[in-house]
Amino acid sequence: MKPEEARPVLEKLKEELLARVARTHRHIHQREEISADFAEQNIERSNDEVVAQLDAEGREELASINKALARIDEDEYGNCVRCGNKINEERLKAIPYTALCINCAKASEPA
Ligand SMILES: [Zn+2]
Repeated sequence: MKPEEARPVLEKLKEELLARVARTHRHIHQREEISADFAEQNIERSNDEVVAQLDAEGREELASINKALARIDEDEYGNCVRCGNKINEERLKAIPYTALCINCAKASEPA
């Protein structure tokens, strides 16, 4: 994927993600307001943990997208930030904001 093709894809992902994070924040806020009035607080709390987790993942993904956009500006898009090799085309299509080639991504996964 060429940088000029990747940029609109990344911009769109960013938009969708921001919308999702905004919805998640609203959801948490609503839960806090109503939970005091309900007996099933344990159920609500576990739901909130799931939502909070999604939110953290969303923020992480957003940071990756912003970094990928920055790499386009620096003419570094599509190069692995660790080893400098070209990132596989199929991998970039699947995860356009990835910063690592498949080998480095595998190496950085916890055993
Ligand atoms: Zn690499």
